[in-house]
Amino acid sequence: TGSQRHVFFVFGASGDLAKKKIYPTLWWLYRDGFIPENTCFIGYARSELTVEKIFQNAAKYMKVQDDEREKYEQFIKINSYVHGSYDKAEDFERLNKETNKISGQATAHRFFYLALPPSVYGNVSEMISKHCRPESPGFLRLIVEKPFGKDLESSNKLSEHLNKFYSEEELYRIDHYLGKEMVQNIIVLRFSNKIFSRVWNRDSIAAVNIIFKEDIGTQGRGGYFDEFGIIRDVIQNHLMQILSIVAMEKPRSTTGEDIRDEKVKVLRCIAPIKIEDVVIGQYIGDKDSTDPERQKGYLDDDGVPKDSRTPTYAQVVLFINNERWDGVPFILRAGKALNEKKAEIRIQFRDVPGGMFDEELTEHGVKGTLARDELVIRVQPNEAIYLKVNTKRPGEMGFSIEGTELDLTYNERYQGVKLPDAYERLILDVFTGSKINFVRSDELQEAWRIVDPILAEIDKKKVPVIPYKFGAVGLREAFAGAAMHGYIYTGTYVWKDERSG
Ligand code: NAP
Ligand code: NAP
Repeated sequence: TGSQRHVFFVFGASGDLAKKKIYPTLWWLYRDGFIPENTCFIGYARSELTVEKIFQNAAKYMKVQDDEREKYEQFIKINSYVHGSYDKAEDFERLNKETNKISGQATAHRFFYLALPPSVYGNVSEMISKHCRPESPGFLRLIVEKPFGKDLESSNKLSEHLNKFYSEEELYRIDHYLGKEMVQNIIVLRFSNKIFSRVWNRDSIAAVNIIFKEDIGTQGRGGYFDEFGIIRDVIQNHLMQILSIVAMEKPRSTTGEDIRDEKVKVLRCIAPIKIEDVVIGQYIGDKDSTDPERQKGYLDDDGVPKDSRTPTYAQVVLFINNERWDGVPFILRAGKALNEKKAEIRIQFRDVPGGMFDEELTEHGVKGTLARDELVIRVQPNEAIYLKVNTKRPGEMGFSIEGTELDLTYNERYQGVKLPDAYERLILDVFTGSKINFVRSDELQEAWRIVDPILAEIDKKKVPVIPYKFGAVGLREAFAGAAMHGYIYTGTYVWKDERSG
């Protein structure tokens, strides 16, 4: 009904994520008219804060235009702050009373965003369920951020705990990669184009690469990272989620449960990663760089133990044991402190059979090969879909062949279209109750099952950690591994020695 109210809680309102992402996102949604009328926002943390202070801290992330000032003031007015502990019943009872007072409706729907360190998820989720549930017919939604555990066991424990207090229906596990435009586009691209649906299988596809690269190191936040490493931080969640969308069978409909059913099915067909299919690395400083940040290696970060073997780069190769994908390598690669920042998916197609162009490809008596077609979906930055194809070199008389791209670069084709930030989409989904873009507990469990054994091997120091220089393109060993599994690189990059020792 029109009079139904909503309360959105930000737990950890004093923190980094709240300031940089959550509050700005709530403001943008409010500004653009997406927030239902009669919604109020309540921040909660232990710090003695005020609404004023929260908005001061977040000011530089809010991007308020001059003509939006009035609206911004209105937004601030519907915010409140309550401080209290994360584990005392009386604090949560007090929060409940305050909430009833602020919203004026004990049956208002309540959404809780936990922007908190995982160490307090357990207590906070229990307290909220016990003391802060809305009265019927109001409903509750709990939004949790990664990390969802550190391995299969701790993740299952967290899931069990949450299941004690919440139904799966109430849980929204954020993987912000699912909110990205191009990740959502995979579904449309795959299932609304005959030209792709026909070739999306082992008969036509030679290899799939899913890649995440950062051009920055840990920047002094190595303490958090060191406990996790790149496989837990990026591959187990973001890249595995992308993989499941790239590889799933066609869902019955676009509803959340139909899509999630297919995603989990494909994950269930993947065997745990084998030790021989893993390459890990850790960056060292580039002494020749003029940038002091790049001179620092991972071990120079004050938060990182001097003997840490935590990987900052990793490549794993997965195989999906089903009729569509049997034998096709899915190469997942992620790294920090590399030459560029990007996330992309590369679908490489098989060689064209028959040697019709052998003569054209022969130069100085050496027979070249026809480059493979490759579909690249650039997730970020500079979103694009491009298909690398062979064409006749323009203007030449004979059949000389040249690689080029069918190029759909978004900022050229869709000038002036603003792609919503991932968090905007996801928080809006929480309001509307759409679960397509959130991770279900069975998906989470399967993803951990796949990486769990290899994480244990790495922790037991069974996998060598290869050093690489800050700013490197990648690890030679990783590219060799990809080649061994059938990914053919025909680019022009020549290896420089990127290692010092
Ligand atoms: P944070 O700033 O370290 O913590 C948020 C708030 O939690 C703090 O302001 C503090 O509030 C409270 N807190 C901090 N340490 C605590 C402790 N040991 N025990 C109890 N309370 C503690 O964390 P964050 O960076 O905002 O991240 C929140 C969650 O989002 C984490 O799970 C993180 O992994 C995830 N995440 C963060 C980012 C990011 O960009 N920061 C990105 C993706 C995911 P009070 O002291 O006022 O209670
Ligand atoms: P490419 O240089 O042909 O291929 C890059 C891929 O090869 C990356 O995945 C890279 O790995 C991998 N690689 C690099 N060195 C390797 C090695 N020694 N062995 C094996 N693999 C190696 O570049 P491209 O991205 O396909 O670009 C082709 C053209 O498309 C470029 O001219 C580009 O400007 C253009 N284009 C770009 C966009 C866009 O980005 N928005 C849009 C349209 C067209 P890593 O990923 O690990 O680095």
